[in-house]
Amino acid sequence: MESVKVALRVRPLVKSEIDSGCRSCIERLPNEPQVSIGKNNLSYTFNYVFDENEGQGKVYNLAVKNLIENLFKGYNLTILAYGQTGSGKTYTMGTNYNGEGELGVIPRAVYDIFDIIESRKEDTTFGVTVSFLELYNESLYDLLTDKPREQSIVDMREMNNGICIPGLTELQVQNADNALAILKEGSSGRVVGATAMNAASSRSHAVFTINIKIMNKTNPKDVIASKFHLVDLAGSERSKKTGATGDRFKEGININKGLMVLGNVISQLCDGQHSFINYRDSKLTRLLQDSLGGNSVTLMIACVSPADYNQEESVSTLRYADRAKKIKNKPVVNQDPASAEISRLRKENEELRLKLISV
Ligand code: ADP
Ligand code: MG
Repeated sequence: MESVKVALRVRPLVKSEIDSGCRSCIERLPNEPQVSIGKNNLSYTFNYVFDENEGQGKVYNLAVKNLIENLFKGYNLTILAYGQTGSGKTYTMGTNYNGEGELGVIPRAVYDIFDIIESRKEDTTFGVTVSFLELYNESLYDLLTDKPREQSIVDMREMNNGICIPGLTELQVQNADNALAILKEGSSGRVVGATAMNAASSRSHAVFTINIKIMNKTNPKDVIASKFHLVDLAGSERSKKTGATGDRFKEGININKGLMVLGNVISQLCDGQHSFINYRDSKLTRLLQDSLGGNSVTLMIACVSPADYNQEESVSTLRYADRAKKIKNKPVVNQDPASAEISRLRKENEELRLKLISV
């Protein structure tokens, strides 16, 4: 059983924090992936800690790169960015990809995936599709459809022990540039709500998914399929601090619902006492059901601001991430349903043949 891995990323103080006289209240401890926060020096340990001096390349190379190979072995992979608005989730994930600046996790992962595909083309056939969803006020929006936004709502259904989303646009991609052009196009359709907390705050969860089908050329019936979810979660702050009112307040409550249920699910998974996990209580947790406590290798990247002004929210993120670390997942290889059935029949056939021989 694999635990959910957790990386903490502390971003640098941003200009507005420096201008308003904020000081850093988070200190990285030497030798261990550990930080202490505030005057009481509460300390937390994670699988990785990245401080303000560590850039996009280092975060990717240490925490993410070695997970990519799992996809080619047929495991699902999920990376979640968690943290308050303005803590660096979108920057870290690279969800707002526009081809400029230091690349985030999604574009780097896309390049690595296609490098691996290129290196194995001789004996393997690959099929790659991508989809891009936004979960906003408990509605799922397809970010890759040509339809106007109000007609782009899709919904989930339970199928074969998994979630399926009928009508969701899944685009075939041939190379990394294809996939990144789609990411760029899709992210420009995300809602952006201005709140007192951050002028361009994301009040929604964005889920970019890469589906990979892998067929062995010498044995074409040997097919595995894997799913890579890259999730830029909504801001984890409590709505009262955003200064949000009216419509924005409603958003705040619903966003908290998804993250609150996610928090409950994490608690239930951690204490091991629950035979029933409340995945169904929010769309976010239904969507991520396979990724938490299920069939996935999972990394949570917890993002925090180092500013003393944000200490309370940062402590809450550290606590949340600390609990997530204790979840155990049970990843198993995904065979394509058709090829799984064929394998089963072959095995049965072989058993019957052996029986005949032994008679
Ligand atoms: P979130 O998505 O969590 O709301 P953003 O990713 O939009 O936060 O980050 C907020 C601001 O901080 C952006 O201007 C972003 O460029 C900057 N930022 C975040 N993390 C880093 C980092 N590690 N290094 C430099 N700038 C960062
Ligand atoms: Mg964001």
